[in-house]
Amino acid sequence: MAAVAEAAEAGAPGNPMRRLLAAAVVLTVFATPAGAAYDDLPEYDGEGFVALYDHAVANTLPHLAYLDERPHVTRDPELDDRIWELALERGYRLRPVATGELASVGGVRMQAPVAEAWRALQAEIRADGHGFTVTSAYRSPDSQRTNFLSRLRGSSDEAIDEALRWYSIPGTSKHHSGYALDFRYPNGTFGQFRASPGHAWMSEGNFARPKRHGFVPSYPDDVENQGPNPEPWEYVWVGRELIVCGVPQEVGPVFGPAAALTRDLARCPGGQEPVTVPDWLAP
Ligand SMILES: [Zn+2]
Repeated sequence: MAAVAEAAEAGAPGNPMRRLLAAAVVLTVFATPAGAAYDDLPEYDGEGFVALYDHAVANTLPHLAYLDERPHVTRDPELDDRIWELALERGYRLRPVATGELASVGGVRMQAPVAEAWRALQAEIRADGHGFTVTSAYRSPDSQRTNFLSRLRGSSDEAIDEALRWYSIPGTSKHHSGYALDFRYPNGTFGQFRASPGHAWMSEGNFARPKRHGFVPSYPDDVENQGPNPEPWEYVWVGRELIVCGVPQEVGPVFGPAAALTRDLARCPGGQEPVTVPDWLAP
């Protein structure tokens, strides 16, 4: 830090503008928030975080597949049509489901690279004196159905929409992938996580700590029409390399591969076989 100031000072003998610039350099260095001191990772807004995950499941994350047919929600096909319609209107999307073996951390099942990243992040969480942990990761379409139905209080549009504020329907949960994690304090509710020191710790410096391990917010506060209400307790793993590289600003097709990455293409993740939209959901 002193070296920066001296170097700037040395190049600015007697020139007021240069002295001003030198002062600005020193101020900038001192004004860097603690969270940003971790890494020089790019900052993202909510739409950017969402785009990272959409790009990741379409292009870079292994062991995923889309369901062959629409999973049922209720036993009433007409009611299911309406539920699917309202879910998609709210911004829910068809999400891929984990294939193959899952790892287990403390009895919670998740994809292997997520388990490795979570163990490393968890060590930092504990070292800094926080007690929150992961309570849910992979969730099958069947267990998602159980969750949704536990919240459904009738068949009116209002009742359906009320349930959709909290729970996705089977086939549309990011938890199906095994790449999503829910954080919670052992004695707290999900809703309480937002006001907790754990959330402040995670979100500091544009989510610098989770980003360093490849995690980004799943349903950020500043995104409209993303399905559920914002969920500050849910994170998705996209891998640090993708966070470093970024994705295009316009991720047009929901299920298609992104056209190009914003940085050095050759060094960025991607290039897997593009996923195809299942026939049963294609327009
Ligand atoms: Zn969740």
